Amino acid sequence: MACEIKMMGADYVIDTDFEAGLTIMEKAHEFLQRFSNGELKDMPMFTSCCPRWVRFLKAKYPEYVGQLSSEKFPHQMFGAIIKIYIAEKKNIDPSKLCVISIMPCVAKKHEIELPTMKSSGYEDVDVVLTTRKLDRMIRAEHIDVESLQDVLHDIPFNTASGAGVIFGARGGVMEAALRSAYYFLTCSNAAIETFYEVRGMNPCKEATYDINGATISTVIVCGLGDARTLIETTIRKELSYDFVDVRACPGGCSGGGQSIWDGVEMAQLRAPSLYQLDASATLRYSHENRNIQTLYHDFLEAPCSHQSEQLLHTDHNAWNMPSEK
Ligand code: SF4
Repeated sequence: MACEIKMMGADYVIDTDFEAGLTIMEKAHEFLQRFSNGELKDMPMFTSCCPRWVRFLKAKYPEYVGQLSSEKFPHQMFGAIIKIYIAEKKNIDPSKLCVISIMPCVAKKHEIELPTMKSSGYEDVDVVLTTRKLDRMIRAEHIDVESLQDVLHDIPFNTASGAGVIFGARGGVMEAALRSAYYFLTCSNAAIETFYEVRGMNPCKEATYDINGATISTVIVCGLGDARTLIETTIRKELSYDFVDVRACPGGCSGGGQSIWDGVEMAQLRAPSLYQLDASATLRYSHENRNIQTLYHDFLEAPCSHQSEQLLHTDHNAWNMPSEK
């Protein structure tokens, strides 16, 4: 994929799975902070990496927007890193950088225009191109994909962990975050299959884990109808969770509305491929990614540090829905 994109004019191609790993580091830390502070006693922390879900919550349950994790969406995080850290490292004027995200989702087109997504001082991400559009562009350029060699993503962010890869699968964000949260709590890695229970295509997938004396109750929901049901039952205190991952699309982002479409729903087929890539990866935990460690050491200091908060996190209450303007 990097080769085709460079043939169409990109100077640098960076792996989205690296961005996902960075998001995992911040999300796992934020969850543990809020969990240990007792902030999640009445209402869980919701993931915030799906813009359709964030808009749904703001529109229907604005009183719970504060329960969203404060991380930006992964590509927005990384846009800020590119325009500050990479621009300085490579001696490029950030105003000359155009960051293009390739995403399976039109909702991300709206998200890059939010007034809160300029923490670099510039638009963090300039353009979102859907994967379906990219596929059409490759065909329009008559690029013979079969004949191309694999090209590595550009340094310094050319390594991704299996945890970053499964981010796109339903339940993958939760599994990847729990792998790192376990490490942050115990200073050791859980056996890799410890959190496999969160996988699968059930509309709601629950799992509870005891980690170092802490009981963490999780659920994964795909589809906004099921998200509404979950919130209502939580409000009525019929169910109680600590950490909830919500995706608007059935099957998670691997079933995104602008993924490549051949007339068949591919989410069920893509997820096993992502899990297979994770299984064959030498690096499976985001916190073990040397390039992520270097980024924290050289620039961000630590997950949820002041620098990270400035660049990688956002206030979901700081922008208005169209009905509020
Ligand atoms: Fe976009 Fe769907 Fe993924 Fe949400 S679940 S971020 S709407 S592709």
